[in-house]
Amino acid sequence: MSILYRGPLASCDYDCAYCPFAKRRDSPERLRADRAALERFTAWVAGRDHPVSVLFTPWGEGLVRSWYRKAMVELSHLSHVRRVVIQTNLSCRTGWLDEADLTRLALWVTCHPSQVAYDRFLAKCRDLTGHGVRHSVGIVGHPDHLGTARRLRADLPASTYLWVNAEEGRVYTDDEAAEWAVIDPLFGYSRLAHASAGLACRTGETVVSVIGDGTVRRCHFVPEVIGNLYDGSFDRALRPRPCPAATCDCHIGYVHLEPLGLYDVFAGGILERIPAGRPARA
Ligand code: SF4
Ligand code: SF4
Repeated sequence: MSILYRGPLASCDYDCAYCPFAKRRDSPERLRADRAALERFTAWVAGRDHPVSVLFTPWGEGLVRSWYRKAMVELSHLSHVRRVVIQTNLSCRTGWLDEADLTRLALWVTCHPSQVAYDRFLAKCRDLTGHGVRHSVGIVGHPDHLGTARRLRADLPASTYLWVNAEEGRVYTDDEAAEWAVIDPLFGYSRLAHASAGLACRTGETVVSVIGDGTVRRCHFVPEVIGNLYDGSFDRALRPRPCPAATCDCHIGYVHLEPLGLYDVFAGGILERIPAGRPARA
């Protein structure tokens, strides 16, 4: 089972123009609630007797909070946890990773060029590579980011997958899409929303989305509740179900959309967005 977890946290140390959580602050009460919810979730995962993979998808940045670093380390040491991953801007220090079992931990790293000096970001990525921390690196496909993306592709090891997310609302010409596809051969999957209505999607059966109070939905994008993690009600509700949405335009969703075949493309690295081999152009 794979679980996408998002707690009450909704703040970030960065100030990206394209983000509603930019420089938002959480109240002390909200931070306390986020910590308590995360600890409850971590304890639940620890108590399972079946394999679990976890992707933390916080609104905002989690790794600047000690409880996310602690949860990542703790979960990485559990033998039934296949993988524990978090989406991060990598603004945090990286020393805490020394305490983790790196055979299970991975990072989904996003570069935000307006918020971090290029050399500093690259040095952090190199640090991850040097310490054997499994990670992907990505960037939003805004025209202003093209130069940085090209530099990153040239400077990162060929073994580090550099993904490009189509910017929300942006329409790419074929020429523009081709430029981004030079950097990320799989950009074609992100360029356009996938018509998903009625198609088989693993969410709601082997993948679920959970929020802080344990409410379980099939994915982050379909509001219908299928149960609760902590009373076990979600377990009885797991079954194959077609996608009820018209489209799916986010990687953390459509990677589970069966007709796309992305479980083969990302075999072994689905949650952290690392392809199984050198990706062929989408
Ligand atoms: S780093 Fe991510 S969460 Fe923070 S402001 Fe930028 S896009 Fe938003
Ligand atoms: S295709 Fe996307 S929106 Fe539809 S159920 Fe799957 S993850 Fe959710």
